[in-house]
Amino acid sequence: MFHSSIAKTIFFTNYYWLLLLLTNFNTYCQNYNTMKFLLLMLNLLIFNVLLSASSINYEVSMSEPHTHYFEVKMTIIDYQKEYIDVQMPVWAPGSYLVREFSKSVEAVEAVFNKKMLKIEKLNKNTWRIFSQKAKEVIVSYKVYAFEMSVRTSFLDASHGYFNGTSMFMFVDELRNQPSKVAIYPYKDWKKVSTALPKTADKGFVYSATNYDILVDAPFEIGNHLTFEFTAAGVLHNVAMYGEGNYNIEKLKIDMAKVVEACTAVFGENPNKNYLFIIHNLTVGSGGLEHLNSTTLQVNRWTYNESGYKGFLSLVAHEYFHLWNVKRVRPIELGPFDYNNENYTTLLWVMEGFTSYYDELLLLRAGFYSEDELLRKFSGSINYVENQPGNKVQSLAHSSFDAWIKAYRPTENSANTTISYYSKGGIVANMLDLMIINKTKGTKNLDDVMKYLYQEYYKKQNRGFSAKEMQQALEKISGLKLDDFFANYITGTQTFDYKTVFGYAGVDVVVLSEKSMSFGVSLSGNVVRSVKRNTMAYDGGINVNDEILALNGFRFNDNFSEIIEDKKPGDVLEVLLSRDNLIQTLKIPLKESEFNRYLISSPKEKNSVYKKWLMVN
Ligand SMILES: [Zn+2]
Repeated sequence: MFHSSIAKTIFFTNYYWLLLLLTNFNTYCQNYNTMKFLLLMLNLLIFNVLLSASSINYEVSMSEPHTHYFEVKMTIIDYQKEYIDVQMPVWAPGSYLVREFSKSVEAVEAVFNKKMLKIEKLNKNTWRIFSQKAKEVIVSYKVYAFEMSVRTSFLDASHGYFNGTSMFMFVDELRNQPSKVAIYPYKDWKKVSTALPKTADKGFVYSATNYDILVDAPFEIGNHLTFEFTAAGVLHNVAMYGEGNYNIEKLKIDMAKVVEACTAVFGENPNKNYLFIIHNLTVGSGGLEHLNSTTLQVNRWTYNESGYKGFLSLVAHEYFHLWNVKRVRPIELGPFDYNNENYTTLLWVMEGFTSYYDELLLLRAGFYSEDELLRKFSGSINYVENQPGNKVQSLAHSSFDAWIKAYRPTENSANTTISYYSKGGIVANMLDLMIINKTKGTKNLDDVMKYLYQEYYKKQNRGFSAKEMQQALEKISGLKLDDFFANYITGTQTFDYKTVFGYAGVDVVVLSEKSMSFGVSLSGNVVRSVKRNTMAYDGGINVNDEILALNGFRFNDNFSEIIEDKKPGDVLEVLLSRDNLIQTLKIPLKESEFNRYLISSPKEKNSVYKKWLMVN
């Protein structure tokens, strides 16, 4: 109320001035352009003042959690228009796929003064409410939530979880306005965990300074276990949903070490509070990054010897993102367009560099040995270099097309795409060694991350372009990287592993091996994918073919036994069922080539190696 009366006073004062200005046009202003500018500024002022009074409050309840429906109420205050278009996002930042969250929305209604307002649906995610300048419009709808992933929403008898992008509609013009969210948990539930600040001690009411901030903070609601620890001067809350073999005291110590290692890269931690929401499940994996929280999904039995380091690596990955991609970011990723794909060629930095650090930091934090880390790096190199798509798709394209390729994999993906996570991680590894070598150990990739954070986030408060990313690398290292970018980022050439690892005295042996492999991946006897340049590919084996017999022998994952005494050129008789029609293919046996990269730790550690892994 207070704000809206002030807004009106200012509006009328301005309007009066505007009229005065217009009626005395000739006297006041001889210069038409100046006049136009003045009018524009006035309009902007009036518009902003009017908007600054508007706000949106949300209420989320869940009276029947077993039905998987959240009930949402959205109150639009002091936005007096003939009609209001409310929209549901089509995607969730951090996960580059159009998910069409409006598909789970139903029963959209709007009222003013208990009177129903007319609603018309304009397109897949937009509802026009004929609000007739109503002072307060209450929009209500239900959201079906039964997809247990880190980027969607889920509600059942045991708990509720949601991301704002799949829950909260927005009004485009009001996206910069503050909002409040009140959560009304199911009657038997006592806890709500989110990174948004609470507005009062009682109840579960939270505030957000704008829509981007609102939908950046996921909510966990139920009777989950919570604990906290402090690291890097930041209070960390952990919300644990689901049974598992975790040890809370150990988690506090180990997660703190990961937090400290991540913070050391950037030199400072921008948060006061941070929330980990961890879902312990039988099926499910992954994480999604936010400004001051993350959701992790892991197998509930992951906290043992072998799985535990994988868990800590996921913690490091998502935590590193609070800088890299949430604050250090491409210009295209924020403020977000929630109606369309947001294209960037830089996911190899955002996800690739983060993947590099999620392993490197486990060494710095004391969880990996040097050999273990080198094995991780060589595993990644072997995967990338033996994937046919590596020679088809560049890193820049892999990033740009994430929306239609990486997030929509098909049976042909391995032949035509390369992961910006794995290959971007290799680029980070190469650049780190090149920077250390060029600067004689005075700089490394950490300095580039620090520079990007200080220059673009803190000083300019904006994202950077691909060109500026290259310039940042060049500035810190003193290297000229035009060829590097042309060859490895926009091109598909093979890295010069020997030279670059050689800087650190690390020996790389490339073994070119030939073997007669069938070239298919199977589930049971059914072909799921066919690898390019293999005998199956050349011989016409299709995805979905069911392999019945090879050379007259019943097929039972026994390809190598059947061809044991055969040589290249011999014919393999394949009996298969395709769309339930039995047929025989005669395929010449062929050797496929692949490169095996062996990376071994140096006998003596030189200065580049010591700087790289921060060891003595
Ligand atoms: Zn990531």
